Amino acid sequence: MPNIKKIWAAVMAMLLTGAVGAAGKEDASVESHLAQQACLQIAKRLASVYTRDCRYNNGLVTTGQFSVEGRPILEKVYPPRPPKKPRARVMLVGGIHADELSSISIVFKWMRILDKYHSGLFHWKVVPLLNPDGLFQAGRALRVNANGVDLNRNFPAPDWQANALEGYWIKRTGRNPRRYPGPSALSEPESLWLAKEIERFRPDVIVAVHAPYGVVDFDGPPKGPGKLGKLHLNLLGTYPGSLGNYAGLQKNIPVVTIELRHSGIMPRSKEIRRIWIDLVRWVKNNIPKDTPPVYKGLQAFMQDMEKTELRRKN
Ligand SMILES: [Zn+2]
Repeated sequence: MPNIKKIWAAVMAMLLTGAVGAAGKEDASVESHLAQQACLQIAKRLASVYTRDCRYNNGLVTTGQFSVEGRPILEKVYPPRPPKKPRARVMLVGGIHADELSSISIVFKWMRILDKYHSGLFHWKVVPLLNPDGLFQAGRALRVNANGVDLNRNFPAPDWQANALEGYWIKRTGRNPRRYPGPSALSEPESLWLAKEIERFRPDVIVAVHAPYGVVDFDGPPKGPGKLGKLHLNLLGTYPGSLGNYAGLQKNIPVVTIELRHSGIMPRSKEIRRIWIDLVRWVKNNIPKDTPPVYKGLQAFMQDMEKTELRRKN
């Protein structure tokens, strides 16, 4: 396996040579180049992501976080537009399962809408591809990350070891390698970064995109959206270690999970817009609600969870 980390380091070094001795602006330009290169790789891999989505300095930036194989995780923030106060902070995440290609492409499409129409109604943090290693494996894209871990089972849950690893993975899936939750909660750089990012950004709602169940799933305090485009609300039930279970049920942050109909086929343009409009309308009318999310730092959260588990065992 080629050492991607070294390749990225080389790209970084190459770009840095033009910026030696300077600070601030040039550092930012190195980061922008890196983000552009990473974006172009995605555009090369996915037909619905265009090179123009990777225009230099278009706001898509590196986060400082790298995947297991050293690929940068990218994000794009659509900030508040003072004096307008954003009605909510919204985190939008695609490509948690990298073989669900439409879940990455559609986020790029929605970023195009935001590029044009972002009004400051919400403060957005968009992560189009949480699992870049899964997308770039030789042969075909993978659900899991480069360590073979299903990131959507790697988030903390009460008694993670007993429930996610033993109860769910071993007993229920019969050690299905596509659903391996990892050796411990947040063992993976991608999921750990997202969990920390949730604490930093403090979203009022998280929107996670998946495929191919063709429904809207929802975890958290208020009632979920009845339908987004042609996708109807259908509660799939939560799995220990999933983002919905972690953020929605334990941290009180509403999590809207959009399950597109197909992994490899994009919805029609009209449907892509319809889902977006319905989502924005639902967030506007329903978020934030009275039940406050639990933000107190990841460490404190993990400690509390350990205490609860100890109490349960004693
Ligand atoms: Zn998925």
